[in-house]
Order: sequence, then structure tokens, then C-alpha cells
Amino acid sequence: MSIIRDESPEFDFSVPVAVIGAGACGLTAALAARDAGVDVLVLERDKRLWGSTSMSLGAVCGVNSAEQAAHGITDSVDLFVADVMAKTEGRADPALARLIGEHSGSTLDWLNAQHQVPLLLDFKWTGLGHSRPRLHIPPGRNGEELLALLANACGRAGAEIVMEARVSALYADANDRVLGLQLQRPDGSVERLGCEALVLATCGFGGNHAMVAEHIPEMATARYFGHEGNQGDGIRWGMALGAAVADMTAYQGLGTLADPQQIIVPHPLMIEGGFLVNSRGERFTHELANISGMCVPVLEQPGGIAWVVFDGRRNQECLAHSVEQRQLSEVGAIRTAASWAELERLCQLPEGSLAKENAAIDAARERNTDDRFGRSFAGLAPLEAPYCAIRVTGALFHTQGGLQIDSAARVLRPDGRPLPNLYAGGGAARSISGPAVTGYLPAVGLAMAITLGHIAGRSAAQQTQMVMA
Ligand SMILES: Cc1cc2nc3c(=O)[nH]c(=O)nc-3n(C[C@H](O)[C@H](O)[C@H](O)COP(=O)(O)OP(=O)(O)OC[C@H]3O[C@@H](n4cnc5c(N)ncnc54)[C@H](O)[C@@H]3O)c2cc1C
Repeated sequence: MSIIRDESPEFDFSVPVAVIGAGACGLTAALAARDAGVDVLVLERDKRLWGSTSMSLGAVCGVNSAEQAAHGITDSVDLFVADVMAKTEGRADPALARLIGEHSGSTLDWLNAQHQVPLLLDFKWTGLGHSRPRLHIPPGRNGEELLALLANACGRAGAEIVMEARVSALYADANDRVLGLQLQRPDGSVERLGCEALVLATCGFGGNHAMVAEHIPEMATARYFGHEGNQGDGIRWGMALGAAVADMTAYQGLGTLADPQQIIVPHPLMIEGGFLVNSRGERFTHELANISGMCVPVLEQPGGIAWVVFDGRRNQECLAHSVEQRQLSEVGAIRTAASWAELERLCQLPEGSLAKENAAIDAARERNTDDRFGRSFAGLAPLEAPYCAIRVTGALFHTQGGLQIDSAARVLRPDGRPLPNLYAGGGAARSISGPAVTGYLPAVGLAMAITLGHIAGRSAAQQTQMVMA
């Protein structure tokens, strides 16, 4: 991931705006550049579009969107910033949170109105740190569809995506102005592309084990369930050009990745009254306290394993709306039994353990008090036979630290001055999760990708137009 210092390199071809990475951030940036009337090329290392975006649930946080208004939801930027600061215990950058609050809703409206990328307000994921319903999901409810919608929009808008084009080096002059890039093709050939502005949309460094060990040692041996292409390339180029980074210890985790099937267990199962036990059949955490941070207590359990426990009714409800639940059902990950005793046998849990934990929950509900973890089950129907369980483990999904940017998504030096023509968004930029795993608000990853992609693409295009004028 080198920087080639050369004042006047020769290029095979040139484009005003180049974007590295064809995830949600890169494709949104390309759409924004095309809307500004500027030619853009997106370079993607993989043979097919995938990225962390396709692996995601496709839920995007948006504040003050037309969808919220249509459902009568009153939201505000101040409320969003307050939620971010509460979730991160005051450790996120409030200016960055405000930027996302101010632009996320209008970005979703723009994608819908201008580019036929509909994202519909979802009510299944309530709470979890958001004081208003803010999660917007594509009609098919998955990230693969979101990326396909964005790619189709790029096709219509004339934003070209070059696949199997791994960028291996940037060309820069002595003032750290990016002049172009070098890309490698699968046959070993090398091409050189000149550009006037560059958007880094290469996501984070979750797939780079050395970087994870350096910055997030607590997850150095944990499973990584993000895109292998997230090697931190953009972050490392930015740093090599003198950019500042922040919150490199932060990440999005999950405590409920089905083991060994590697499918995300839908959180609504627990929001609706399911619970978690370890291999001793004992609960060990408040299941809704922190969806991202839950990976830590799960990995601390014997063998790093836990069970999500729910019932047949909740299973049916979830099957109706969740692609993941249907996949879990198809691969036989859901164990179902007519009684607690049978489920305990199926999951090899101590006799009487599930019945005991469930009885304790029922007792707390009847007393109308919180349980011993401070969780309230008030208003949720008791679990009823048949009972179900899925074996899960904790995983690292996506890193949250990255390049410092300003309100135009320009990459910043440690003294706050912007680099001449470098922009970043999505996982390549610092997020609003603070420095720890517990600061991740649901659907903020894609909000950072789409909102900052929009801002970065527009800013990069404007910069090239100023050069032309
Ligand atoms: C399992 C899972 C579930 C998630 N669920 C959600 C969710 O529901 N809501 C949410 O908000 N967030 C979610 N996230 C996080 C979310 O997926 C990311 O925040 C978001 O996709 C980041 O978008 P991006 O465009 O920055 O990165 P990506 O989508 O990863 O795109 C980056 C692209 O850059 C390419 N690339 C990297 N280096 C190079 C190079 N040198 N040359 C060329 N190409 C390169 C990669 O191949 C990749 O295609 C989830 C993450 C995971 C892993």
C-alpha cells in the first residue's frame, strides 16, 4: 500500500474523480459525482460486488427522512446527537454526529427520489439506543439488495464500476496532492489512472489481522465476520500522506452469530422476549443493553459459546420478515422441542437450567420488576412451547476507527488542515461510535457509508469543477 512520490507521472488514462471501493460508500459517492455532472470511475478489487455492505442487514440510520415524516415520526438532529453521545458516554465527536444527523435523512430521500433506491422505515428494531425509529431498510430487507440497487443506479447515472481492479499504490506530489493511482489486474498487469480528486471508500481494517491485533487486541483471536477486502488500505494510504486517525480501538461486534453456520441471529427474537444462556444454562447479561458490546460477554463464556432461547411463536413471526431467520431454518440451526427438558437435552444444557431461567423471568414479569440484570420483560408475552434455541458466538463485524474528516468529507491532517484532494467515507473514516465496542448505535455503519459517500462524492466533484473554472 505504497505512495509513489512523483511530480509528473504518466497515466494510461485519467478521470476527474476516482473512487476506490464499490461498497455503499463508494457507489453513493459515484452517484453524487454524476449528479454534479462530473465523470467518475469506481475501482473495486473483487470480481463481483460484495463488500461489508452485502453482508449487512441493509439497515441505514436516517434522521428527519421523508419516510419518518410519512409515518408521523418527529425526530431531530439534537435528539440524534444526544443519542450518540449517550451511547458513547460522551466520547464520540459531536460535530461528526451532527453532520450525520443533518444529512442522513436528506441523503436517503435523495437516493429514493433521484436514484430509485427505496429505503423504508422499519419498526422491528426499536430502541437499542435510538430514541426514535430511524432504521431504513430496502424492500427485500438485506444488504445485498441495497448494494444491487445502488449499482443499478450507478449504471443508469453513467458511473462506471471497474471490477477486478485492486488499487495497489497512489501517486502523490510533494504537497501530498493525489495525482492518480496504480491498479493491478488478475493477470498481473498494472494500469495507471490519473485523477483530480480521490475518494477512499475502502472500508475499515477488520480483515487485516495485524492491524486488528495492534489496535483492537481484545478481538485479535475472535472470529471476523466482515468482508475480507477490508484490509485498511484507505486508512493506511491516508496515514502515509500525513492524515490523522481517531478511535482506532472502536468496532462493531455481535454476540449472536450462529455457530457454526455463520448467520446473524435476528435481534428482534430477543427484543420480543427471548434470552441468552451459556453452556451451563445460565443467563449472564442484559440481552438488550448493548447489541454491539454483547460480543464481549458472550466470548467470555465457556468456549465463547451461548444459546439464544425463544419460542415457536416468535420463530414464526421472525420467519415472516427476516431473511436470516429463514436461512437459519433452512440449514437446521434452530433446535425446537416440545418442553424445556427436551430442549435442554438437544442443546446439552444441564437438566432444569432453561426451565429455571425462564421461571425467573416469568416471576420478574409477574412482580412487575426488572430481572437480576436490570432487564424488564413487562408487556412481553411469556415464552410458550414449543421452545427453540440457536447456538451462537461473538464476532468482529466492522472496525469503527479511521481517517479524520471535516464536514466536506475532506481527509484532515493532525493540525486540522485538509489534504489537498483526498476524501473519505464509510468504514475508511472515523465513525461516531467513540473509542469502544459499546458505542455502536445500530445502523450507523451504513449511515456513515451513505451519508459521507454523498458528501464526499459531491465535494470531490465540486473541487474538480473549481479546477476547470
Ligand atoms: C455482518 C454485518 C452486518 C452488518 N449490518 C449492518 C446494518 O444492518 N446496518 C449498518 O448500518 N451497518 C451494518 N454493518 C456495517 C456495514 O456493513 C458497513 O458499515 C458498511 O457496509 C461500510 O460500507 P463501505 O462502503 O465503507 O464498505 P464496504 O461495503 O466493505 O465496501 C468497501 C469496498 O472496498 C473494496 N476495496 C478495499 N480495498 C480496495 C483496494 N485496494 N482496491 C479496490 N477495492 C478495494 C472492497 O473489496 C469492498 O468492496 C454490518 C456489517 C457486517 C459485517
